[in-house]
Amino acid sequence: MTSRTEIVEDLMGRFPHVPREAVIKEDLLRGGLAFDDSALTDNEHGDVKPKSYFIFSFDHRTLPELGTAALRRPPEEIVLTGGPYELRRTVVSVRTNPASPYRVKTGDDGLMRLYLDDKPIADVGVPPMPDYYRHTLTNGKSVMEVAPTIQWGYLIYLTAFRVCQYFGAKEECQYCDINHNWRQHKAAGRPYTGVKPVDEILEALEIIDKHDTARTSQAYTLTGGSITSHVGGKAEADFYGQYAQAIEERFPGRWIGKVVAQALPKADVQRFKDYGIQIYHPNYEVWDKKLFELYCPGKERYVGREEWHRRILDSAEIFGPRNVIPNFVAGVEMAAPHGFTTVDEAIASTAEGLEYFMSRGITPRFTTWCPEPTTPLGRTNPQGAPLEYHVRLLETYRAVMEANGLTSPPGYGPAGAGRAVFSVSSFMDSLAPNDEPAPAV
Ligand code: SF4
Repeated sequence: MTSRTEIVEDLMGRFPHVPREAVIKEDLLRGGLAFDDSALTDNEHGDVKPKSYFIFSFDHRTLPELGTAALRRPPEEIVLTGGPYELRRTVVSVRTNPASPYRVKTGDDGLMRLYLDDKPIADVGVPPMPDYYRHTLTNGKSVMEVAPTIQWGYLIYLTAFRVCQYFGAKEECQYCDINHNWRQHKAAGRPYTGVKPVDEILEALEIIDKHDTARTSQAYTLTGGSITSHVGGKAEADFYGQYAQAIEERFPGRWIGKVVAQALPKADVQRFKDYGIQIYHPNYEVWDKKLFELYCPGKERYVGREEWHRRILDSAEIFGPRNVIPNFVAGVEMAAPHGFTTVDEAIASTAEGLEYFMSRGITPRFTTWCPEPTTPLGRTNPQGAPLEYHVRLLETYRAVMEANGLTSPPGYGPAGAGRAVFSVSSFMDSLAPNDEPAPAV
């Protein structure tokens, strides 16, 4: 039987132009990692920044199945360096999987390392508890709950609406556990605000702004579930837009404002822009027509794939193509029983979608699929997509981008191996370095 180490090293050998850091990072994102108790945090009362569960669970087990890691959270992210592959600093979002061949533990020398198949492969750094997490709002809520930061502090992640109005098997996207994640946090008695009041977000941002004296936080993302009717009397553009308006009034230009929302009609997209948003993410999720229809039944029914794509192109007229950055979920193309069965076919389909947008100056980006166990696709594909798909996607993504004369998208911080902070995919690690300074780690 081939060990995971052999698979990883084989891919590093066959794709030498994909950074080794990205190969390891993709494998950790697709399959998760285990933590010895010695490597867990003391939640919000210790010196290490804990996992905030900023939107989805991004775990391979439900909370009740995580054991100690459900009581003492793992860190939000880890940073890898050194080891036999001589890794440059690589920030990786934490997706917990007690059965993973990757394990973080603290050695007898007190140093934390990442092990693969029981052999140490990297030194592990953990994010220090930010000063702003040590303060609470006047109503007692934590900053981590209201305005968590990810990407080593670069991005403030504002999930304003913690559930999605695409609800149930006939509407929810088949790889998405937003609604389950809300339920499991509620069941565990954790604070988990369904709809975040504007005032709470402003107060949390006030605390961040005051204590983030190094100005590590550079951007905020407004996001949450899709709104097909109304929340608080507002439809989607006005619901998410109201936060941007309030933030930009209080802190004009302090951060780059981004919104992840549905592909909305042009007039709604214009409202986002008028509210002060600079970057729009109308995610197209998966390129293939049949897979979009099967995996995104709510979006297909309410909007439809062709209309979705047309709206993405329309939004480029409002934001400018550079500032329209639709996401896709890398890996779901290969999920059984309907996905592609070969890496060649899956890459060809994904490349077609990349070319469609990039030839029009729009730069999609991707997150690496985490097959969460309570989703239909996660249940039938607990191993996710093959690592080779993810490695070849990095190669293809860069090639299509460069062939179209594009560079790394704005609002993602530094690019390049050893410099990137974007943590839920290694696309930024595998692109050419840009001008943004890499943060000290
Ligand atoms: S639209 Fe789909 S991916 Fe987005 S939150 Fe709803 S179910 Fe999840």
